[in-house]
Amino acid sequence: MSIRRLPPSLVNQIAAGEVVERPASVVKELLENALDAGATRISVAIAGGGIESIEVADDGCGIAAAELPLAVAAHATSKIGEAADLERISTLGFRGEALASIASVSECSIRSRRREDAAASSLAAHGGAIGEVRPDAGPAGTLVSIRHLFLNTPARRKFLKSPVAETSRIAELVRTMALARPDVAFRFEIDGKVALECPATASPEVRLAAVLGEEVAASLIALEPVAGAVRVWGFVGRPAQAKGSSRSQRLYLNGRAIHDRLILHAVREGYRGLMPGDRHPVVALFIEIDPAEVDVNVHPAKTEVRFRSPEAVHAAVRRAIKAALASVDLTPSIEVESAEPAAGFAGGRAASRRDPEAPWRLRSGGGGGGSGPGLFAGTARSGGGPKGFDFAALATRLATDATEPASSIAASAVEGLEASRSVIQVGGAFLVSEDDEGLVVVDQHALHERLSFESLRERITAGPLESQRLLVPVVRSVPEATVEAIEEAAPLLRRLGFEVELAGDRRLALLAAPTLLASRGVDAADFVVELLGRWIEQGPIPDEAAALEPVLAMMACKASVRAGDRLNAAEMSGLFARALEVERASNCPHGRPTTLRIPWSDLRRRFGRSS
Ligand code: ADP
Ligand code: MG
Repeated sequence: MSIRRLPPSLVNQIAAGEVVERPASVVKELLENALDAGATRISVAIAGGGIESIEVADDGCGIAAAELPLAVAAHATSKIGEAADLERISTLGFRGEALASIASVSECSIRSRRREDAAASSLAAHGGAIGEVRPDAGPAGTLVSIRHLFLNTPARRKFLKSPVAETSRIAELVRTMALARPDVAFRFEIDGKVALECPATASPEVRLAAVLGEEVAASLIALEPVAGAVRVWGFVGRPAQAKGSSRSQRLYLNGRAIHDRLILHAVREGYRGLMPGDRHPVVALFIEIDPAEVDVNVHPAKTEVRFRSPEAVHAAVRRAIKAALASVDLTPSIEVESAEPAAGFAGGRAASRRDPEAPWRLRSGGGGGGSGPGLFAGTARSGGGPKGFDFAALATRLATDATEPASSIAASAVEGLEASRSVIQVGGAFLVSEDDEGLVVVDQHALHERLSFESLRERITAGPLESQRLLVPVVRSVPEATVEAIEEAAPLLRRLGFEVELAGDRRLALLAAPTLLASRGVDAADFVVELLGRWIEQGPIPDEAAALEPVLAMMACKASVRAGDRLNAAEMSGLFARALEVERASNCPHGRPTTLRIPWSDLRRRFGRSS
C-alpha cells in the first residue's frame, strides 16, 4: 500500500482511541469544557451507562455561532495560542481535540448561546460528518448531547463493561469533579433520576458532605493547609476507614483530577505505620503549584502529569498527611451491633442474624466519630470534643507503685478525674481499663512495640544506637549475595549498633550488637543475617529513613513485651505514661491497632438499657 494522508475523520477516530476510552471519559471532557467556560451551574444526565446518551449543560460563556464548526474541529482551541502557553496551562483543556474526537465516534449535537447573543445556534455531527450551523432557541450557555457512543467503532464498544459498571464509573467521576469545585453547582441524573444535587458553596467541607455523605465527611480529617511553593490541603480518612481498593483516593493538581503514583506513594508514606500495606486510605488531596512547575501535556487524557521537582511534592504531601494524622485521636471504637430496642437476648440474636460473622464491627474514628483531642495527647493538645482515654490518670494513680514518679504532664492531666479507675491484665496479653467514653482494651505487645519503635526512632536521629562489643565475635555463614551486600550496608548497620566484618569465605563476623537486643535475649547474629537478607530482597535501598523504619520496627518487635508476659503495676504504669508522649500510639509500627474502645453507649444498647 502506498503512503497516504488519512482523512480528518479517521485521524479524529484514532485520536478518540486515546481521549475517549469509555463513557466516563466523555463526561470528563465535557465537564472540563464547562468549567473552562466559567460555568456556575452544570448538569449532567446520562442514560444506559452513558453509551445511549450523555448530556452536559452549563451556563458558561457559550460559543459564537460562527465558531461552532471550529469547536468540533481537531486541533482547534480557544485556550492556548502559542508554544509558550503550553508552559503555563491554567485551563483544564488545551489540546483542542476532545470535541472532535467525541464527535467522530458518536452522534453529537451542540447548542450554544453567548450571553451577548440574542439567540442560540446549534450544530450536529454524526460519526464525524459535521452538519450545518442552525439557529436555535435556548438559554445562555452550552448544551452538548452525545448519543450512541462508539456507534462506528464496534471494537471499542466490546471493551465496555455493563451499563451498570459504566454508570458507576461516571458517577465516580462526577463526584471527583464536583469535589474539586465547590463554587460550582452540580446536578447529576442517571436514567432520569437525580443522583447528586449540590448547590454552589464557598466551603469545601459542605461540598464534601454533599458529595460523599455527612457520615464519611464528618470522619475525615482536614489537613492544615501548608503554604509554600507546593501548597497542599484537603481531607484524609482514618486508618480504620481504609478501603481494599484505591478508588477513594482522589488527587487534584491545580484543580485537575489526576492519577499519580508519586503522590500515592507519598500518601502511603504519610500513613506509614498506621495501616497494613494492602489497605488504601480515603483521601481527597489538593495540590497547588505554579503551573510552570508541572507538565500536564503528558497524555491525551490529561490525567497524568510530570513534576519539575517531584521530591518537593512528595515531601509536602507526606508531611501534610503525617501532621494531620498526628493531630487527632485515631483509636478505633468497637461498635456493638445495634440491637432492637427490646431488651434481652432476643435483641442480641436479631443483631447477630443480620451479620453473623461480625457482631463486633470496627467503627472508624475516635470518640464519637468526631475529631476529639489525641488519645495520647495529654494536656498538650487539649480542646473541645470527646475526651480520649486518660492514660495520664492511670499513670498517676499507678505511680505510687512505680519506681519513677509520674511526669508533670501526667500529673496535670489527672485533675477532675476520679481515682477509681483501675487497669487489669487479662488473657495474659491485654490491658483493660476505662475512660469517660467507654471500655478500653490495649494490646500490650502492640503498644509496647509502638513505644519502643518511637523511642528507637528518636534515638537514631541523635546518633548510632547504643552498642555493645562482643567478647568473642559471632561467626555465621551466609549466602554469596549477602557477602556482596555487607560492605554497602555497613554504614547503616553501624547506625543501628551492629558492627560486622567479612571473615573469610562466605562468613560474616559480628563484632558488636545493639545493647537493646542483647537485653531482651535476642540473637543479634541471626537478626543481622535476616536483616541483610531483607535488604537484598528489596533491591536498592531508596533512602536511609525508608530503610531504617522497617528495621526499627523489627527491633521494636523483638525488644517488646510479648503476649503472655506478666506485667506488674509498675510496668503497666510505665507503658501508659509513655503512651502519652508518643504520636501514633494508636497503632503499632505494622499498622495494627494498639488500643480499642467499646463506647458506653454501645454497651448500654447491647444490654437493652435506655440510659
Ligand atoms: P479544548 O478544551 O482542549 O480547547 P475541546 O475540543 O474540548 O478542546 O473544545 C474545543 C473548543 O470548544 C474549546 O477550546 C472552547 O473554545 C469550545 N468549547 C467547548 N465546550 C465548550 C463549552 N461548554 N462552553 C464554551 N466553549 C466550549
Ligand atoms: Mg476540552
